[in-house]
Amino acid sequence: ERKQLNRLRREPSRTIDGVDIRLYANAESRDDVAEAHALGAAGIGLYRTEFLFLQRNEVPDEDEQFRTYRDVVLGMTGRTVTIRTLDLGADKADRTGLVLRDEPNPALGLRGVRLSLARPGLLDDQLRALLRASGYGPLRILVPMISSREEIRAVRTRMNRLAAELRAEGHEIADHIPLGAMIEVPAAAIALPGFIADLDFLSIGTNDLVQYVLAVDRNNEALGEMYSPLHPAVVRLIRDVIRLAQRKGKPVAVCGEIAGDARFVPMLLAMGLTELSLHPVTLLEVRRTIRACDLQALKARAPSLLKARGRLEIERWMAAAAPDLA
Ligand code: PEP
Ligand code: MG
Repeated sequence: ERKQLNRLRREPSRTIDGVDIRLYANAESRDDVAEAHALGAAGIGLYRTEFLFLQRNEVPDEDEQFRTYRDVVLGMTGRTVTIRTLDLGADKADRTGLVLRDEPNPALGLRGVRLSLARPGLLDDQLRALLRASGYGPLRILVPMISSREEIRAVRTRMNRLAAELRAEGHEIADHIPLGAMIEVPAAAIALPGFIADLDFLSIGTNDLVQYVLAVDRNNEALGEMYSPLHPAVVRLIRDVIRLAQRKGKPVAVCGEIAGDARFVPMLLAMGLTELSLHPVTLLEVRRTIRACDLQALKARAPSLLKARGRLEIERWMAAAAPDLA
């Protein structure tokens, strides 16, 4: 079984009817990047930078961040690398003193882009490091927890100003650095028509989107099965985001855990998704499933998926759409 999967390292992630699906990797370390490269990932779709900031007492400075981001870019040898700005919040235990303690609702607190905008020095150091790394290969910047166009505009304004400064200082910066948003706060998904023009690309963070749409804590085991992407509200929202992005010609991926779970692949393909970002551990399994999917047939089933009235109906849809892996 493992051996069979290993043979897929050099095979394309192509459906039976010949459509290429871009499989990007989620990464948070050097090892993840090396693994993603070896497995033939299309690039890095989500590099989580929080891990640079955890388990230490001081914030990494611009140079340290630059070296880390540059090495991710170099490690992918010309494939696109998507690095996410800091997504720290009270749910991730830092010792650097950046994060507010004792927030009553950390998931609804000063986290992600909110924290970055509240600490401009922090954001500037990270953006400068990222911009400098863009001189070494294709790099995109992804911003977490966006809920309004003001936030993405504020980041873009900083980014443009810093890029001009760095060029004046003699640094080589890419001419165009795509800036995208995580779509993981329901407000961003719902208000997307009003600010998609401000985005160069989108990445749907289903881990948080599910939590916020359903008001179900993603880490609270007492809620058990309630935390599920198979709620019709979640399915419809994901489909709407994909459709709008495609109508506007913006690249869109799903980077939450469901992208790395082969059971969800037919559903995501039926909704028109052509980019997934997932942990390298499951990349080959997902590739195998994609290679067994008939995209035209899945798309023909999409209307019944969107008509499903509850989780059970969606589960039945998934069972009927599951490809034969024999
Ligand atoms: C998500 O929310 O789906 C996501 C990919 O980000 P994280 O799990 O880091 O919050
Ligand atoms: Mg998230």
